[in-house]
Amino acid sequence: MDPGIKKKLIIVSAPSGAGKTTIVKHLLTCDLGLAFSISATTRAIRPGELDGKDYFFLSETDFRKMIEANELLEWEEVYKGTFYGTLKSEVNRLINEGNHVIFDVDVVGGLNIKKFYGDQAFAIFVSPPSVAELESRLTGRKTDSDETIRKRIEKARWEIDFAPGFDFILVNDSLEKAKSEVLKRVTDFLNNR
Ligand code: ADP
Ligand code: 5GP
Repeated sequence: MDPGIKKKLIIVSAPSGAGKTTIVKHLLTCDLGLAFSISATTRAIRPGELDGKDYFFLSETDFRKMIEANELLEWEEVYKGTFYGTLKSEVNRLINEGNHVIFDVDVVGGLNIKKFYGDQAFAIFVSPPSVAELESRLTGRKTDSDETIRKRIEKARWEIDFAPGFDFILVNDSLEKAKSEVLKRVTDFLNNR
């Protein structure tokens, strides 16, 4: 990697089900020198997830200890009783190892990270084409109960109002189009010293 390029941060936020994970995974395969910031969470591990790879899965007691010790760059109770947070140590480690860092965080967390890093960060809001399509994607993903899906849809209506605060709104309608559009925007941002 060119040592002259300052390390940058790519923030990807969206209502749950809009396609944020799909977009982040795509960018990670594009050889851009990006590394994923693994967050801490108190939610239950899902089938197929690994502790220390997808998240650091913590008890609420341990999560609260990290807050007390000022170890989190930002944290949110994203859903009632479920906490998520970005570890300062993780971000610093990835930057020190020569990576740009990519975050998959909720919209409030995304705007907080952007505020902290300013021009060093590019904040992307992934927007679903419609709330009806969002519901259909969450149902199709088969990872959440009907009650959880209902809560996520309710929250999405509120989250969409934050979109104008982001640097770029990516409408994830055709996935192929969204992938190529985001790749272009992120490449431009990373190459601009
Ligand atoms: P998020 O991380 O925002 O919760 P995911 O990336 O898990 O969302 O996407 C939610 C579901 O929608 C997944 O099953 C994914 O495969 C699907 N999906 C993502 N993008 C599209 C798209 N453009 N068109 C149709 N389905 C999509
Ligand atoms: P999920 O439970 O589907 O993995 O994630 C739920 C929500 O929490 C998503 O919007 C995800 O982006 C968000 N999230 C994951 N990690 C963090 C984090 O460290 N901070 C914040 N604020 N949100 C996070």
